[in-house]
Amino acid sequence: MTFKPKGLQALFGGTFDPIHYGHLRPVEALAKQVGLEKVILLPNHVPPHRPQPEASPAQRLEMVRLAIQDNPLFTIDTRELERNSPSYTIETLTTLRKEMGSEQPLAFIIGQDSLLSINTWHGWEQLLNNCHLLVCSRPGYATNFSDPQMQAWLAEHKTDDPNQLSHTPSGYIFLGDTPLVDISATEIRKNLNSGQLNSNLIPPAVMSYIQQQQLYHS
Ligand code: ATP
Repeated sequence: MTFKPKGLQALFGGTFDPIHYGHLRPVEALAKQVGLEKVILLPNHVPPHRPQPEASPAQRLEMVRLAIQDNPLFTIDTRELERNSPSYTIETLTTLRKEMGSEQPLAFIIGQDSLLSINTWHGWEQLLNNCHLLVCSRPGYATNFSDPQMQAWLAEHKTDDPNQLSHTPSGYIFLGDTPLVDISATEIRKNLNSGQLNSNLIPPAVMSYIQQQQLYHS
């Protein structure tokens, strides 16, 4: 069977506890810049040694589902949530690479904060062998690495040309010119707990679900 690559496939992993407009808006803008037809949201299974999400995996998945129900850009891949053990991004990417074939252009989307700490990820040196990295700006985070070696790594792989992303399977880093949305899930949880949430930060259907499930209240 001859393998025929599709256009650039993009994944966006996160804890999504809860999903908010700081996740959705920058990624929508990035999709326009790069010409992504679809973005696959990949909710994480959180390892036991990390701070655990307040919402259950089923609740986080439902919030993601509600957030994207009217937005055809997004779909969901539940493979990390369905596993009983935590999976590292590199493992998921390696599996997807096998499924999609070596020629398929594949990208993983992260925020600027994640880029700056990428060298703490398990197997991070292998990431660009499997995918491109597409980075959304995030307010409050430096645009450069303070470590000159990491800055050199960025310079080596950086591209400003979206065509390179869709014509090669992996290996580039694209820094998106995306809107700065000053929201974090931590802050949302804190504000919900103290009853002070600005409801413009999350899609209304997600907000109703949070209230119905009485999430993020101590
Ligand atoms: P917390 O503040 O609790 O760490 P978070 O919203 O940053 O929550 P995740 O849900 O795990 O955490 O984030 C998933 C991805 O979304 C990460 O790559 C992160 O960098 C990115 N991201 C989250 N919020 C923003 C934002 N406001 N702007 C740009 N990227 C963001």
